[in-house]
Amino acid sequence: MEDLDIIKKSQKKNDKVIPVKLTADSKLKFRCHKGVKCFTACCHNVSIVLPPYDILRLRRRLGLSSAEFYEKYAQLEVLDKTLLPVLTLKMQDDEKRSCPFVTPDGCTVYEDRPNICRYYPVGMASLRKQDTETGKDEFYFMVKEDHCLGFEEDTVWTMAEWRADQRADLYDEMNRGWMEILIKKKSFGLNELPEKKNEIFFKVSTDLDYFRMFVFESSFLNIYDIPPEQVEKMRNSDEELLKFSYEWLKHALFAEETLELSDNEEVAARKEKIVAKFAAKSGKK
Ligand code: SF4
Ligand code: SF4
Repeated sequence: MEDLDIIKKSQKKNDKVIPVKLTADSKLKFRCHKGVKCFTACCHNVSIVLPPYDILRLRRRLGLSSAEFYEKYAQLEVLDKTLLPVLTLKMQDDEKRSCPFVTPDGCTVYEDRPNICRYYPVGMASLRKQDTETGKDEFYFMVKEDHCLGFEEDTVWTMAEWRADQRADLYDEMNRGWMEILIKKKSFGLNELPEKKNEIFFKVSTDLDYFRMFVFESSFLNIYDIPPEQVEKMRNSDEELLKFSYEWLKHALFAEETLELSDNEEVAARKEKIVAKFAAKSGKK
């Protein structure tokens, strides 16, 4: 069994995480709106990890390529619990270390804000469990920070209602494969992936433009056996390509059997080349 709170919105290392496991039916008394005295207080000096779908939504909104988004709004960090390189939102260099998207009127990218901002003040965790259908048990916990006055408001939600209101379910679905990679990596303990694999993970999960080129402008589609309908979907939809990128990453990083190789001359030639290389190294013919 293993818990996961790998990517939470955090202002201080010692956020008050309420040690209660909450489910979809648990109640949350909370409301955040422009009238609260603390309005936008949680949008400064925060660490916001950006999963792939969050990056896609933000850069689309801003009309930027993946590389332009990284250059202007993000920075590279290594996650404590997995040692994987990820992008986080780059706070501004002002006194309060403000989020680049906060104004006195609120969030300028509200409809496309990161998932962590949607969930706040709720965190999600996942336990690995043998006795559930999915092998996982997802639940929630509350993060209470002194400056957040939303808990003094009278609106009561169930966790399920809160998630639906924030549209967190769409983000969870679109980032799920990436989270599975983090969970798998976490299960290895703090052993780093080989440098090349770290680079692959970072590049593919932060730069969909690059992955699109990799899939459609290399011999990729000749090497992997991917149904033509799926190829067309990926060609026409960033979301489909994003979901496929998780399957490819699982295959490339952990040798999971998420993809099949094609049965063709190019793959046969590549296999032969690998055999020849190993034979040469071991001195066998
Ligand atoms: S993205 Fe929006 S909601 Fe999230 S911290 Fe920045 S201003 Fe606040
Ligand atoms: S601190 Fe809490 S109530 Fe205040 S703006 Fe942020 S989420 Fe809303």
